[in-house]
Amino acid sequence: MKRIFLLLLGLLLLSGCQPQKHDSQTFAMDTIMQFTAYGPKGQQALAHASARVQELDQLFSVTRSTSEIYAVNHAQGEPVALSEDTARLLAQSLELCSQTGGALDITAYPAVRAWGFTTGDYQVPSADELLALAAQIDYSQVELTENQVRLPEGMELDFGAVAKGYTGEVLAQELRELGVESAILTLGGNVQTIGSRPGGDPWRIGVQDPEGDGYLMVLSLVDQAAVTSGGYQRFFDADGERYWHIMDPASAAPARSGLTSVTIVGDSGTQCDGLSTALFVLGWEDAAGFWREHQGFDAVLVDEDGRIAITAGLEDRYVLGPGYEDRTVEVIRP
Ligand code: AMP
Ligand code: MG
Repeated sequence: MKRIFLLLLGLLLLSGCQPQKHDSQTFAMDTIMQFTAYGPKGQQALAHASARVQELDQLFSVTRSTSEIYAVNHAQGEPVALSEDTARLLAQSLELCSQTGGALDITAYPAVRAWGFTTGDYQVPSADELLALAAQIDYSQVELTENQVRLPEGMELDFGAVAKGYTGEVLAQELRELGVESAILTLGGNVQTIGSRPGGDPWRIGVQDPEGDGYLMVLSLVDQAAVTSGGYQRFFDADGERYWHIMDPASAAPARSGLTSVTIVGDSGTQCDGLSTALFVLGWEDAAGFWREHQGFDAVLVDEDGRIAITAGLEDRYVLGPGYEDRTVEVIRP
């Protein structure tokens, strides 16, 4: 009897040390999303998170005929009124398009579709077709005034490069408001953290080896987002060539910058997501140059020769992954 009592007491003390863990999973934005929140507010907060994700997916989906973006893309040159979320994400995206000199261009959708990335019906468009598509990509022609947008006819928006980052950022903010102090949200290749792990250690986020299954390195994060863009995430092979879903807006074809993956770490999920795509397009030298000029975020670059670089802010926040301990990591300094 006494032994059972002691055992129960022990279990009680153990569970008292660790805040309660809550998990949920939802499918949205073409990917499986996995949310974990700790503490007494966790369960209610995760229910909110799942509902909010579905709401944002319903606004941003480029393929669903009931979405707001679909309405914008089919307005034939007429202005369309936007919800607060869409107007905010559109404004932030256009800013990132401009900052990156058009390496990020949210009007690249006709090219993404022509290659078959929206349906999985992959094909290599002809050179003439690519010229015509490239001529049509130009974010600077998107007219946004407060909550109204107008697109020239034939132009189409796609939040594919920014939606998950924005969603993670919004969820983090709303979960904090709901009293969550420790959580990790995985939205496909995007990770958003809230606070630190229960107990105070940073969250540990793996950066995938673009050429294999392992983790090149593990990054420490507190209250930040980490977003990876890589050609390995969605691609098809044809005639001995590999074609991936990240387009160079200048050519309307998959970006061949020599990089195989870019991971961005920072406070704003939207910025991380937009920049992971843009820096992939820019390539090693221009990506490093962009970081030096703007800063306010950190990056991990991996190229097709297996070279790895991190920006200076990550120097004390990474360890090489199991099996990758002998790899050299270059540090990009201001
Ligand atoms: P990410 O996975 O965040 O790098 O975003 C890639 C997705 O964004 C693609 O699946 C396309 O829908 C879209 N996209 C591809 N290339 C670009 C680009 N250069 N600028 C903006 N969106 C793009
Ligand atoms: Mg992105």
